[in-house]
Amino acid sequence: MRDNTDILIIGGGIMGSATAYSLLLADKRLKVVVMEKDFSYTRASTALSMSNARIQFSLKQNVQISQYAFEALERFEEEMRVGDKRPRIGFKREGNLFVVDEKGLESATSAFQIQKDLGCDILWQNPEEIATNYPLYDMKGYVGGSFGPQDGYFDAYATLMGYRAKAVAMGAHYVEDEVIKIQASNNQVTGVDLASGNAIGAEIVVNCAGAWAGQIAKTAHVDLPIDPVKRQVFVLDTTVKPEQPLPLTVLPSGLYFRTETGGHILLGKSMHEDSVGFDFSWDEKRFYEILWPELAEFVPAFDTLKLIRGWAGLYAVNRMDSNAILGEWPEIRGLFLANGFSGHGLQQAPAVGRYLSEVILGKEPVLDLSLFSPRRILEEKPLTEMGLV
Ligand SMILES: Cc1cc2nc3c(=O)[nH]c(=O)nc-3n(C[C@H](O)[C@H](O)[C@H](O)COP(=O)(O)OP(=O)(O)OC[C@H]3O[C@@H](n4cnc5c(N)ncnc54)[C@H](O)[C@@H]3O)c2cc1C
Repeated sequence: MRDNTDILIIGGGIMGSATAYSLLLADKRLKVVVMEKDFSYTRASTALSMSNARIQFSLKQNVQISQYAFEALERFEEEMRVGDKRPRIGFKREGNLFVVDEKGLESATSAFQIQKDLGCDILWQNPEEIATNYPLYDMKGYVGGSFGPQDGYFDAYATLMGYRAKAVAMGAHYVEDEVIKIQASNNQVTGVDLASGNAIGAEIVVNCAGAWAGQIAKTAHVDLPIDPVKRQVFVLDTTVKPEQPLPLTVLPSGLYFRTETGGHILLGKSMHEDSVGFDFSWDEKRFYEILWPELAEFVPAFDTLKLIRGWAGLYAVNRMDSNAILGEWPEIRGLFLANGFSGHGLQQAPAVGRYLSEVILGKEPVLDLSLFSPRRILEEKPLTEMGLV
């Protein structure tokens, strides 16, 4: 069976759903089909994320994307209301603290200045101030930190469901099936083939397949520098409880942790040895042998705790520069990409959805994100962002 649609989105995670919503907001007559291979979203990165949003990036456009995310998240529950149903996303602005050592001082200072120049609410704190605000932290060996009081976390799954329900209410058609091939002819996309044996014709196909984006792009002979890389999160019940919630605290080593609802601590760290592939196994040994000693050095009171549980999810790592790959693939008309978000895609979804809808519909973008154009892959011109975790 072959149906036709105006726009076919591969992947109904946060990117696919924010894009479907933005397209229909711009033009409610559009026929938008979202193909999602697993409606339970068990393995979607969106559902497995730490759900943090911060303005602490060093590339102007990444900061601006987050400034827009803050606006979008603040009004999300009202904007995504369907009838009398409102999503509850629990956006908790408990702050992000990036702890800095001597080695990282220059790049942290320059990122701080960029954020200041863009009007962000950002504070530089010396070690004594940090120790006063967070008496559990041992600031020995650190020269300070940048603190974003407006940064925070939210419920990623509820946000996804909010976008999805609103997109459906506006006319998007979600179908549970797997895209197995992107069809193109004469450098123009023509549609997709599905695992069910069906096919859908479309002159615009948007790849929002997350960690699977490289795989599906290959079927159209598009080689994207995207790897699925396993990242693990650990949930801790510490014996000593901080008096106030701890902000997402990021150490120069990349170890990060924050207070989770219920007084638990969530902790993670991206490591070079993290496996590439579709591996969702979770490894307690890594916590006990590597991460716990590192945590207890910075927070000595956390030397007694219980590891309660954890999970593994996938980053869609952009091997070239860890930044978004956004826009039309220069060699195939109609094939749009929203890929390679590595560890910061969730907060980028509102701006990405809006931008993609604008470029697809030929409108002037409110926030110009052409810097992330896929053309840089073909031209081998990587971007530099110092604030990635
Ligand atoms: C442990 C962890 C922590 C993170 N922490 C943060 C954070 O704090 N802040 C932040 O901003 N980001 C964070 N991220 C990153 C963030 O989760 C991702 O960048 C974001 O969710 C990507 O959204 P997506 O829609 O592209 O991908 P996904 O959510 O993975 O959605 C892609 C969807 O496409 C579907 N799909 C794939 N291939 C096909 C196909 N061929 N046919 C049909 N459907 C298909 C999949 O089933 C999936 O549902 C984290 C990620 C992980 C793993």
